[in-house]
This record gives sequence, C-alpha cells and structure tokens, in this order.
Amino acid sequence: MIDVIIAGGGPTGSMLASELRLHGVRVLVLEREVEPSKVVRSLGLHVRSTEVMDQRGLLDRFLAHGQQYPLGGFFAGIDKPSPGLLDTSHAYVLGIPQTTTDHLLAERATELGAEIRRGCELAGLSQDDHGVTVELADGTQLRSRYLVGCDGGHSSVRRLLGIAFPGEPASVDMLLGEVEVAAPAETVAAVVADVRKTEKRCGAGSLGDGVYRIVVPADGVAEDRSVPPTLAEFTQQLRVIAGTDFGVHSPRWLSRFGDGTRIAEHYRVRRVLLAGDAAHVHPPAAGQGLNLGIQDAFNLGWKLAAEVDGWAPEGLLDSYHTERHPVAVDVLDNTRAQMELLSPDPGPQAVRRLVSELMDFEEVNRHLIEKITAIGVHYDFGDGHHLLGRRMRDVGLNRGRLYELTHDGRGLLLDQTGRLSVMGWADRVDHVVDLSEDLDVPAMLLRPDGHVAWVGEQQQELLDQLPRWFGAPSADTSPADGYDRGS
Ligand SMILES: Cc1cc2nc3c(=O)[nH]c(=O)nc-3n(C[C@H](O)[C@H](O)[C@H](O)COP(=O)(O)OP(=O)(O)OC[C@H]3O[C@@H](n4cnc5c(N)ncnc54)[C@H](O)[C@@H]3O)c2cc1C
Repeated sequence: MIDVIIAGGGPTGSMLASELRLHGVRVLVLEREVEPSKVVRSLGLHVRSTEVMDQRGLLDRFLAHGQQYPLGGFFAGIDKPSPGLLDTSHAYVLGIPQTTTDHLLAERATELGAEIRRGCELAGLSQDDHGVTVELADGTQLRSRYLVGCDGGHSSVRRLLGIAFPGEPASVDMLLGEVEVAAPAETVAAVVADVRKTEKRCGAGSLGDGVYRIVVPADGVAEDRSVPPTLAEFTQQLRVIAGTDFGVHSPRWLSRFGDGTRIAEHYRVRRVLLAGDAAHVHPPAAGQGLNLGIQDAFNLGWKLAAEVDGWAPEGLLDSYHTERHPVAVDVLDNTRAQMELLSPDPGPQAVRRLVSELMDFEEVNRHLIEKITAIGVHYDFGDGHHLLGRRMRDVGLNRGRLYELTHDGRGLLLDQTGRLSVMGWADRVDHVVDLSEDLDVPAMLLRPDGHVAWVGEQQQELLDQLPRWFGAPSADTSPADGYDRGS
C-alpha cells in the first residue's frame, strides 16, 4: 500500500514528497499536467526558503541557478535599503525562475525515491478509518493511508472535502507574459517609469536579448484564468494603460492571474490534508506564495511521517494546522495591505507615503522584511526562552555548521554541556555535542523543521519535552545515549 498520495506536483507537492522520503515513507505524486509548465510565476526564494534548502543540503543546486539580490524594496515595492542585523546567514533574495525551482524540487523528490506520475488527475476521493481511496480522471482507483492536496488554488481535493475557502474574490486580473519588444530599452524604461507614477501594478523587466517580462492590468476578471490571453488582448491592454504596446511580439508565453485572497478553514479532514496554494491564495505582492507552500511542506512532512511510522504523539499532526494557518493568515493580511498601498487613489497613496516614512526607522523596515522573508515566524510553544517556537538560524560550530547536521530531517539536540542524553529517542533525535561562539544557550532541542522546541541544561526538563514532539521513548536504548557527532 502507498503511505501518502500527494495530488499536485508543484513546488509544495515535490517538497513534501522529499520530506516524507527522508523518513522512508512510500509516496506517490499525481500531477495532472503531462509536461511541466513554461509559465514563470515566482521569481525567487526568500530567506526562510533559502535556509530550508540549506538545511536539507540543497543550497548549492539553487545557488548554481540563481542570483543573489539585496533584500530592500519588497514591501509594496517601496524603495528602501535592506535593514541591517537580520538574524540569518542568508540575508538576500535568491532570484530563480519558478520553472527552475519546480524542476530542482521534483528532481530531488525523485532522487529520494518518490514516484511522480504525470498526466494523472485526481477526480474523486473518499476516506474511512484506515485510508483514502483516490479516483483518477480515467477511472483508476488508488488507495493510500493519507492524501495531501497540493493541487493549487483551484484544488480539487479542497473542493471534494467541502472545506470552506472564505476571503475575497478577485477584483482585477493581471496579464503577464514573456514577449519580444521592438521598442528601444530606454523607451521602455522611460514609459514604464512614467506609468508607474500612478499605476504601480504595471511593470516590465528585461530578460536580455530584447525579451521582457511584462505585467499589465487586464480589462476585468476572466471567467477561466487557465485560458491565456491572446497577444491582441495583451497589446490592447498595454496601449490602454501605457499608451503604447512597445511593439511586443513573439510571446514565449502569456498568462493571467487574479488578486483573490482566500484561506481554507481547515487544513486537515481526518486523513486528508491541504498545503500550499490549495490551502491559501493571495496576490503575488512581495513574492510569498511559493515560499509559503515550501514552508507548509517543511512543517507537515516530518509530522505526517511520524504518523505513518506510528510514533507521532497525540496532536502532532493537528499542530500542522495550528501552526501554519496563522502564518498564512498573516501573509494574506500583508498582501492585502500591500495591494492597498499600490492603489493609485489619493487616500492609499497618502498612506503609502506615511508607511515609506515609517520604514526609515530601521526597526519598522526590519519588521516588514522579517514578515516577507518568514524569518519572523514564531509558533506558539508556550512561555519560555525567546528562541522557543522560532526557527533557528544557521550558526558556526567548532566542527562545521548547524545546518550541515540537519540534512536527514531528524530532530537534533545541540548540546554545549556534554551532560545531556536522548536515550530512548535516539532513533528519531540526533545528539550533537559541540560548541558555538554564536550560541549563548547551554543546549537546544530542534524539531526536524529547525524550530526550537526546548532550551536549557537540565536533563529532566529535556525529558519532559522530548515526548511532546517525538512521542514515547523506544525500548531499544542501546548505542543511542550520548550519540555524539561532534567529538
Ligand atoms: C504572477 C505570479 C507571480 C508569482 N510570484 C511569486 C514569487 O515571486 N514568489 C513566490 O513565493 N510566489 C509567487 N507566486 C505564487 C506561486 O507561483 C504559487 O504560490 C506556487 O506555485 C504554489 O505552489 P503549489 O505547489 O502550492 O501550487 P501550484 O504551483 O499551483 O501546483 C499545483 C499543481 O497541482 C497540479 N494539479 C492541479 N489539480 C490537480 C489534480 N486534480 N490532480 C493532480 N494534479 C493537479 C497542477 O497541474 C500543478 O502542477 C506567484 C504567482 C503568480 C501568479
């Protein structure tokens, strides 16, 4: 039997498949499309996703295909420098087209043993106490223990479960495409700069060799956004908004997207879960959707694996919703705020000027960047040390780096005292005795997603926390105690 079927082989589905495979879970990814899409939606990875790639030993692959840019200018496109003192060793945006990200994540999932079956559309589902039956569009039935809908904003899984998706419908569509441009580069730059004084949703970025990525508001909202605009519609809208169509021709691809903002009321119904765009949609302001989906998968993967493996403590799988739903609510809110600030109306423009002034305060600028990059995410694990519930940044150790120890996706006790033990949990938690100049706590317990589950030095306190995240101790305590990768 398959352990987990993932509907949707986008970035969220592939990331989740890899996380599950790290724990030996048998995974099948069903992807409706026969070929990968040529449409480039996301343009990059924000800090937390870059850290996630580093945590899993994938960073070099992404760096090889991407370009590092400063972090300033993201919130509603308000032009400010990167704030100093960001709590990360990856204080940059990694510019990388989504088509490449999708490819790298799918490649990794396949390497780890996940099967990605293309041309397979989930069309029906039912569940009982033991598993989920999935029906494909061609009538084939498949059975698995769990199903995760990573099938995008129009998620069939969400619809079939009847999960409410409250929020606001799209009020405007945008047309987006990669096209060749006949007008000289200086003309394009001058016209776009002029238009953006009042219409900040219009933009054109050179990709070299006369090819541009151009975005322009559409005339109204399409009934079916999966139908791309024609070149005639695209040029017509450019003429309406910019006063010229720049002589665009030979599109590489054209697409449309909306500004609908919605979130699923529940991320889990018994054995079926939602992640990524299937769980939340919002306008692409400051480029957060793909990042949010990758981080959903990073949160869910080890928890679902624990459930499949049979060691998940009570409530662990439900903590996926408890932790990730508020994060998405916050992202939806910051995109709503950004969309207001992009409006050409005088009121929002006045607020924009005010926000811009406030962002000159370093702390305000940093607060907004920590939101957009997701390094400010703080799960509620209860009272305690200020690191509790936050993701741990990478730090140097006497022998290597913290993130080098997290490639396998296991729990980690980083112990600077040398006196602690994970006996009973060594099959799930590594115990590393090492010292770090960057760390002023005696020891910390990290979950597989790098969030700090405990800080302290008392063995009894540690023993109180281990079951909360890693379940009951196992009977086999043999070589486990004090497993020390550092010495
Ligand atoms: C113009 C634009 C720009 C963007 N820019 C950014 C950015 O800069 N940064 C950022 O972080 N995000 C950005 N986003 C958002 C980002 O593209 C999405 O959030 C991201 O693709 C979501 O990933 P996903 O895997 O959850 O869903 P998707 O990428 O939508 O993947 C879902 C997959 O499921 C498949 N599928 C659908 N239904 C079924 C079914 N029934 N059975 C099987 N398979 C199915 C689909 O074919 C698809 O491959 C942008 C979006 C747009 C529109």
